[in-house]
Amino acid sequence: MSKQYAVIGLGRFGGSVAKTLHDMGYEVMAIDRDPQRVQDFAQIVTHAVEADSTDENALKALGIRNFDVVVVAIGEDIQSSIMTTLILQDIGVEKVVVKATNDLHGKVLFKVGAYKVVYPERDMGVRVVHHLISPNILDYIELADDYSIIEVSAGDYFVGKTLEELDIRAQFGCNVMAIKSGNHINIAPLAGDRIQRGDILVVIGHNNDLKKLEERA
Ligand code: ATP
Repeated sequence: MSKQYAVIGLGRFGGSVAKTLHDMGYEVMAIDRDPQRVQDFAQIVTHAVEADSTDENALKALGIRNFDVVVVAIGEDIQSSIMTTLILQDIGVEKVVVKATNDLHGKVLFKVGAYKVVYPERDMGVRVVHHLISPNILDYIELADDYSIIEVSAGDYFVGKTLEELDIRAQFGCNVMAIKSGNHINIAPLAGDRIQRGDILVVIGHNNDLKKLEERA
């Protein structure tokens, strides 16, 4: 059986998570204390339910423990977000993914049992900046505070050259992990591999070095 998801809080973020999961074919229970929000999602998800997630009995009655992943997408009401996370952990939900509005909120969420904390506004801000620096940056994954992986479409600087000629390790201090050409992914690129127009490079490195490469891309 495929995984079952519950989403608590149907604001812009939670609503988008719930709709996307459902569009991808997963069963989704969406919970909000606001009856209007619940009604708005009645046709969008598998079950839309009105409940206050700070009420432990209400969550138990919904069988929340049986869900593989519960996403808590309450931002503004930090107290509700923390209490909900704690209750879910107490009930025994294995994976509680919670939206945080700031670092302190995120730290508290981990302490009360969050499996993963996400910062959608902060992450989107970072992504937008990377696109601004170089429109060729397609994606960006933060590995640690100072290290990331980026996907960059090969601009004129790269096209027609081999990895050896580009010497990205020496020039930028970064490593090309993979080269995507259409549907093909070369996950062990060799020095002699030549970059074609339309290729996408997957590059790992220190953020300062990646920034130099982005500016060139
Ligand atoms: P957005 O994703 O739109 O930025 P936000 O971070 O501003 O959302 P809120 O508007 O505070 O988050 O909350 C999102 C939703 O969560 C709202 O629809 C709200 O009714 C619901 N919500 C807040 N507290 C609870 C609760 N205790 N139980 C159930 N739903 C709740």
